[in-house]
Amino acid sequence: EPDLAAKLAGLVGAGPKREVVHALDHVDLAVRPGEVLGLVGESGSGKSTLGRIVSGIWSQSEGLVRFEGRDRAKLAGAERRAAELAVQMVFQDPMSSLNPRMRVEDIISEAPVYHGIVDKAGAEDYLTDLMRKVGLDPAYAKRYPHQFSGGQRARIGIARALAVKPKMIVADESVAALDVSIQAQVLNLFMQLRADFGLTYLFISHDLGVVRHVADRVAILYLGRIVELAPAEDLFARPNHPYTQALLAEVPRVDMGKRQFKPIEGEIPSPLHPPPGCHFHPRCPHAMARCKTEVPALREIAPDRLSACHLNG
Ligand code: SF4
Ligand code: MG
Repeated sequence: EPDLAAKLAGLVGAGPKREVVHALDHVDLAVRPGEVLGLVGESGSGKSTLGRIVSGIWSQSEGLVRFEGRDRAKLAGAERRAAELAVQMVFQDPMSSLNPRMRVEDIISEAPVYHGIVDKAGAEDYLTDLMRKVGLDPAYAKRYPHQFSGGQRARIGIARALAVKPKMIVADESVAALDVSIQAQVLNLFMQLRADFGLTYLFISHDLGVVRHVADRVAILYLGRIVELAPAEDLFARPNHPYTQALLAEVPRVDMGKRQFKPIEGEIPSPLHPPPGCHFHPRCPHAMARCKTEVPALREIAPDRLSACHLNG
């Protein structure tokens, strides 16, 4: 039974200028305690919207988010605050998510002191310990974000999230801005912290290589719908959904010195006007007549494996 559950149906996320976007459509996803659930999708797939809803930064206009079995919207007072602190987000770009005028010590210590997780007297030891745990030298506690490298800023963002003792971390493209060698170090840190603190992760990325490195299970999102959900090993060895298969058709690009995935035929359609039936049909090499009108249900194709494709019957 999922303990941390995000059950989200027919969601509408409200973006910056209060413009309403139908970002997610009947997404029903349960994150299991202690797992790393990878969430993969192209831009416009709704993966960041889902991450923001799960972490409580945005709220859904329909559907519900359950935390430890309880509807999060119905919690109040101390229970609500505990549920909010329990799920923390680590952002894509630490430079824009870290206040440039705050010292690192304040960035990391502000929330735990405010929420009474640590008292003023214990704050310094708490900070020193956290900085060590994320691989930062505590001697740099009085520095400002711009005095650190990209990889170090990522660690500051992680320390800030950890400081309120979360149970779950939502990592949204948290290593996307980093060089490949630094990416590996930060991914290893995430996995070390998982072991040390018993953390659960929703790990959002457009990069299958990154997700393969960390995820226990992987959900593939396409234009606001989950099209495949499977243990990572199975998904990478035997992708079922034609979209997943296309994503995995990897072509190495030697000139760039890093992984590149073969672009899928056709443009990703606008999430505002997704194609009817199976959203993937205009780009799918196996599309049949019914794909243009009938939405394929996400259903079990093997134990613990879900896929949404008419080819499965
Ligand atoms: Fe392709 Fe049809 Fe399957 Fe969609 S439902 S992925 S269009 S075969
Ligand atoms: Mg995004």
